[in-house]
Amino acid sequence: MSVQRVCVLGSTGSIGENTLDVISRHPDTLSVYALSAHSRMQKLAEQAGQTRAKIVIVPTDQARAQFLQAWTGAGPRPEIRVGAQALVDTVADTEVTTVMAAIVGAAGLPSALAAARAGKRVLLANKEALVAAGGLFMRTVRESGAELLPIDSEHNAIFQCMPQSGRATAPTAAARGVRRLLLTASGGPFRTTELDLLPGVTPDQACAHPNWSMGRKISVDSATMLNKGLEVIEAHWLFAMPVNQIQVVIHPQSVVHSMVEYEDGSILAQLGQPDMRTPIAYGLGFPERIDSGVGLLQLTALGRLDFEEPNLERFPCLRLSFDALRAGQAACVALNAANEIAVDCFLKQQIRYTEIARVIETCLNRIAGVPDSGLDSLDDVMALDAHTRSIASELCLLKT
Ligand code: NAD
Ligand code: MG
Repeated sequence: MSVQRVCVLGSTGSIGENTLDVISRHPDTLSVYALSAHSRMQKLAEQAGQTRAKIVIVPTDQARAQFLQAWTGAGPRPEIRVGAQALVDTVADTEVTTVMAAIVGAAGLPSALAAARAGKRVLLANKEALVAAGGLFMRTVRESGAELLPIDSEHNAIFQCMPQSGRATAPTAAARGVRRLLLTASGGPFRTTELDLLPGVTPDQACAHPNWSMGRKISVDSATMLNKGLEVIEAHWLFAMPVNQIQVVIHPQSVVHSMVEYEDGSILAQLGQPDMRTPIAYGLGFPERIDSGVGLLQLTALGRLDFEEPNLERFPCLRLSFDALRAGQAACVALNAANEIAVDCFLKQQIRYTEIARVIETCLNRIAGVPDSGLDSLDDVMALDAHTRSIASELCLLKT
């Protein structure tokens, strides 16, 4: 295998740190070209020193100054690039072979799309990019010949269970004998909480995921199951699968990461410990299997695997996500943007947990007349994203 030079966008986050952990295990084949972070400059400076990154990308001049103050690396100091445009430009550098898109939220869309446009190997953790601009993103991948590898554990599992010909950029899943995609979900920390206690749950309770350790935004999304809704939309685009052929199954142990059901009645599943280094290593090593640092799954110690139907009364955000996918792209952009604002306000204790779904639903109603035909470009998508954010922010203010 030739050496890959990786750009890790969002390197200080949960996926970013796991990515650097896997890269550090393979010094002969994987190297870091660039790192980016929006905050935690101390952490970024440590990472840049350890990985000998050539470039770091920071959001502002103030962050640049903080990075310089924190820098104590023994090797040469990396070049510092500033601002969102620097993310878009850097992924296209000729030195870059591979981009890990692990920025959280729609903020990660422009750089992920730029990596696709530049024809790189794109390891996509940023599911919001596909939710907001799935059609544009997949078209760009096809046209540029980029290699798209899903990192979200469910989609990585499905990818592994697809026949070779059915890999991410293939046109239709039905032609490959696939009947359904079965997306597993843990049910999060409130799977069995009494419904009348949900309005009073705190951000820390919502972020205490039973099986996975993740950033705070996706942890809240897992509690509401909006995360699974985003993943349904993500699966629809990645595998060209109609919405009625995607089923969500609650599986509290988070060991079966997802499944593909075929016309002949076979179901193929991918199992493993709930540790993101497995899908990350799969993406980095593809088509080889490489060490991820993840321990073995002890099936006999586990004893049993459970599956159940999600309750849409408990998880209204899941219902809203299916509604949005059926309604079209404008609704998907709004679903994601409204959720990002509502989750942020919930984390700041400005709105209650149960208001998250209400804010999203109201935003979806408000943009119901917006046609998908006006969403062909990144600028159009970002404009609707911004418009929805302002509606959602106002709604959250009214609730404080
Ligand atoms: P995180 O909050 O831990 O990290 C986010 C990273 O993005 C940080 O480095 C942060 O500095 C950077 N960032 C935040 N806002 C930014 C902005 N406006 N511009 C540029 N950079 C910004 O998030 P995470 O849990 O690592 O998740 C990252 C992405 O991966 C999300 O899209 C998430 O849905 C997806 N994902 C995460 C997991 C997981 O286990 N954590 C699993 C599947 C998918
Ligand atoms: Mg997932």
